[in-house]
Amino acid sequence: MNQYHRISANRLQDGDIDYLALAADGVRGLSPYLPGKPIEELERETGLPADRIVKLASNETPLPPNPRVVEAIVRELPQLTRYPDGSGHRVKRKLRERLGLDPAGITLGNGSNDLLAMIAQAFLAPGRNAVYSQYAFAVYACATRAAGAEGREIAARGWGNDLDAMARAVDADTRVVFLANPNNPTGTWFERGALEDFLARVPARTLVVLDEAYIEYADDPALPDGLLQLPRHPNLVVCRSLCKAYGLAGLRVGYAASSPQIAAILDRVRQPFNVNVLAQAAACAALDDPAYLEEGRRVNRAGLAQLREGLGRLGLAWIPSRTNFVTVDCGRPAGPVYSALLDAGVIVRPLAGYGMPDHLRISVGTQAENARLLAALGRILTTPGPGIAP
Ligand SMILES: *Cc1c(COP(=O)(O)O)cnc(C)c1O
Repeated sequence: MNQYHRISANRLQDGDIDYLALAADGVRGLSPYLPGKPIEELERETGLPADRIVKLASNETPLPPNPRVVEAIVRELPQLTRYPDGSGHRVKRKLRERLGLDPAGITLGNGSNDLLAMIAQAFLAPGRNAVYSQYAFAVYACATRAAGAEGREIAARGWGNDLDAMARAVDADTRVVFLANPNNPTGTWFERGALEDFLARVPARTLVVLDEAYIEYADDPALPDGLLQLPRHPNLVVCRSLCKAYGLAGLRVGYAASSPQIAAILDRVRQPFNVNVLAQAAACAALDDPAYLEEGRRVNRAGLAQLREGLGRLGLAWIPSRTNFVTVDCGRPAGPVYSALLDAGVIVRPLAGYGMPDHLRISVGTQAENARLLAALGRILTTPGPGIAP
């Protein structure tokens, strides 16, 4: 079983009720989100020991957990029997301290994924639409359709958002535009002027959801900081994550910054205790430690350079990226390459589900992990085998 395997509904027997037919209209056409393969799953499938497996599939930090975060969690353990502070007061205060955000305009999420779902639930419905790009994060389409709204996928330009075409696609029924900068799964980005022009063109009745899950890695001054646009655009919602560069993927924390009015609306659909006790303590500690972030950026810069150099030597092309991953063109169907990498104990992300059958997305790992990936890829691409020949 691999990424391409989809769970099929059990065959219905005579007399069984077809619950799929009873599901909400938008849900019937959905397929489940396909995450990167977990290390434990490959361990079960191949018998390779976990410490021989390299996972470069989910854009997680390659650093070990932040010791300050671990300490904060241990300190918080006696609170496990209590519900969390549903208002997330301490985390919001910390975000004000660190980023100057107005706590009344902050919404906390169980990962930023949770925020995307809240936005869709609060603003999308049948008869309304959301605009997003081809090769955008899969959750945008999923959340839109689950809400029964129409998803308007706009053809990409250079693997990224065609902001001009997206602005033109907005009509009176468009309640949300989803926009990632930089973009996942392609790594592409747009610059400050392009964002400002776009925000000026989209009517105030349409929410612009600017997803900055990778912004901490984008060490390029040409990229805009969405938070700076908030005072001038009451329809802007900036989503950020502590799961990527801050290293809290397993705990799930994200935040949205918006006008207080929009935050109050999201609060109506937010689950009362969506960010758990340990995640809140961890978020405060993580936000308090810029050194961990800096170390992650340093390792990422070095890793990106190492991957570019190695991929270049293998004659492979990649899409330029301002993130912690590179999306590589295998120049042939990537499925067999993906499978051969799994056999070698290296997990990357196939993108056939995104309509990119020749590409693989590779997260930046430690120097040793990147070297393992490059060596395995080199062996696979130079050994003609069944299904791998160009
Ligand atoms: C990873 C990712 C997210 C979700 O992050 P979580 O905080 O882990 O839920 C959102 N948007 C994009 C583009 C991502 O790549």
